[in-house]
Amino acid sequence: MPPFSGIPDKKTRDVLTRVARTAGTPCYVYFLDGILERIAAVRDAFGGRFELSYAMKANPNRELLRRLIGAVSTLDVSSIGEVRLAIEAGWEVEQLSFSGPAKRMEELEEAVDLGVGVMICESLREMEQLDRLAAGGARRMSVCVRINPARCPPRFGVNMAGRASQFGIDEEDLPEVLTHLGSLSHIDVRGFHIYSATNSLSEEAIAENFDIFIKLFNRFGEMMDSDVKSLIFGAGFGIPYTQDAKPLDLQHLAGLINPRIDAMKNLERLAGACCSLELGRYLVGPEGFLLTTIIGEKSSRGTDIRMCDAGFNTHLAAYGMMGTVIRRNWPMWKVNATDAEPVREYMLTGPLCTTIDTLAMKIQLPELSRGDLLAIGSSGAYGMSASPTRFISHPEPREILVVGQGSEIELIDVTQPRSHTDANQLDASSLISSQGGQT
Ligand SMILES: *Cc1c(COP(=O)(O)O)cnc(C)c1O
Repeated sequence: MPPFSGIPDKKTRDVLTRVARTAGTPCYVYFLDGILERIAAVRDAFGGRFELSYAMKANPNRELLRRLIGAVSTLDVSSIGEVRLAIEAGWEVEQLSFSGPAKRMEELEEAVDLGVGVMICESLREMEQLDRLAAGGARRMSVCVRINPARCPPRFGVNMAGRASQFGIDEEDLPEVLTHLGSLSHIDVRGFHIYSATNSLSEEAIAENFDIFIKLFNRFGEMMDSDVKSLIFGAGFGIPYTQDAKPLDLQHLAGLINPRIDAMKNLERLAGACCSLELGRYLVGPEGFLLTTIIGEKSSRGTDIRMCDAGFNTHLAAYGMMGTVIRRNWPMWKVNATDAEPVREYMLTGPLCTTIDTLAMKIQLPELSRGDLLAIGSSGAYGMSASPTRFISHPEPREILVVGQGSEIELIDVTQPRSHTDANQLDASSLISSQGGQT
């Protein structure tokens, strides 16, 4: 398993070199065994208090999803395209939990037809629409209500609480909304969901946020007609995105959270609830790398510049364009460095014809020349699928899954073309033919 910070160990670098040689660059590499180890570590730390749910938008690679069957209990999906992809990968539709702030009518229809396990409803209107659709199909749909809390502790990288937000139902409005549920006879409100902040590296802040969750779960649980069956904790565990950031201490974190969950089990309305920990980046992020090759060298007005074959078209987040306020250099390493190479200061850029295509400023790395291989860490989440790969028509990066360890290693090309799971595809082609008919 590659370390969180510092240069990846020799074995990992050898694998990365092999991948670059066979698959070319730019290329995403995911270490499956490392991902499974992280999942097992979370499971162990919380000692059976939580089921694990993987938020597949973090990394929706189909082969990866297939290999996560059995390792986590549910998938959080957030579009009908993700529902289709999960089913294609072999997931049972009952194992899917469908969140999202603006689900289209067609998406709700298909979700009801397929029988998606639980719908995370983000408005009363959505619950009414679902109720009607379920009635029409002579079904009942399971629902969890997404709460948007008024508060979240500081020290989260991303925060959706206490402000105007498209996500969930504001806690201030929820008492009124709950009074309408009695008339919706084809949905079964099983419990609540909160995902109000994420990317925290503070164990205390995450635990404090769980206190807020539990208070809200209990307060609204008491307003329901029956006991709460399901509680989903959008947990917000962060991962390091800079060389010096310290990863979460899972034992410390579990030591703070476990007693809170045990105490929650004394609350009458919540005692029997099944709790899920919903995680994305924490499970897959640190076990992924983007490989890029230096393709140009230049010295310009006193700055040493190296141009890479991966730009923000390939990795939007590493280029600082996915929600970061202050641009910082991501963890990255020269893969083919020898131990004692002296470092120099570089500016790193991508191949795109725009000034914003800057990967790193004033970064200290061993001597970089044309052909050298760089690995960008923390890239297993929000990489490939979160990047505008069509911009300027550069090649799509490949995706390689590394399975096994030591001499038993297998490299699998899991590159996935944008597929027929695209929910708009049928609509688009019929639009074209009907226009053709009119002229
Ligand atoms: C994106 C998302 C997550 C995962 O977030 P991470 O920061 O990757 O852990 C969890 N729950 C919901 C509802 C999400 O939309």
